[in-house]
Amino acid sequence: MNILEIVKYGNPVLRTKGARVAAITDEIKTLAADMVETMHAANGVGLAAQQVGQAIQLAVVDVAGVDDRPSALRVNGAEVNIDEWMPLTLINPELDLSKDKVPGDEGCLSFPEISGGVLRSVKINVKAQLLDGREVQFEAEGFLARAIQHEVDHLNGILFIDRMNSATKASLSGRLKRLQKQA
Ligand SMILES: [Zn+2]
Repeated sequence: MNILEIVKYGNPVLRTKGARVAAITDEIKTLAADMVETMHAANGVGLAAQQVGQAIQLAVVDVAGVDDRPSALRVNGAEVNIDEWMPLTLINPELDLSKDKVPGDEGCLSFPEISGGVLRSVKINVKAQLLDGREVQFEAEGFLARAIQHEVDHLNGILFIDRMNSATKASLSGRLKRLQKQA
């Protein structure tokens, strides 16, 4: 497996909507495995294909071991052990968001040393394909729901700074400009 280079803010691929993954080829499987390896090496909880330079509908998430921010996962209505489902590879995911939202701090591997509060839905319904081709539907809550919303935004070319309120964004503007210049 390979550790991939993580694309930083300012690179246009981060603003590109991902194309649907038509078939789960060996190439896709290798990319997903490399993305998991890269996410773990960077101590991240999620990584989207755009962040390794590929605009396709593929993201990985791993919230196992995050104990200070609780999550819940229900598959077919039944609560499951989250650790057994991590790392989770989501292909062509579609989200249904709850109306109730909650603020929370987020970071992003494409924005080193930047974090800020983002309002996200508390609960989401997810329809996606897994790496083995299986179609799954599940409900996620809490930190896992937040992580998936952040990653699915990436797949659509949306970044967490787009979701911050203007005061938060203004407070980060100097650092964001510096990041963009380095890109
Ligand atoms: Zn991110």
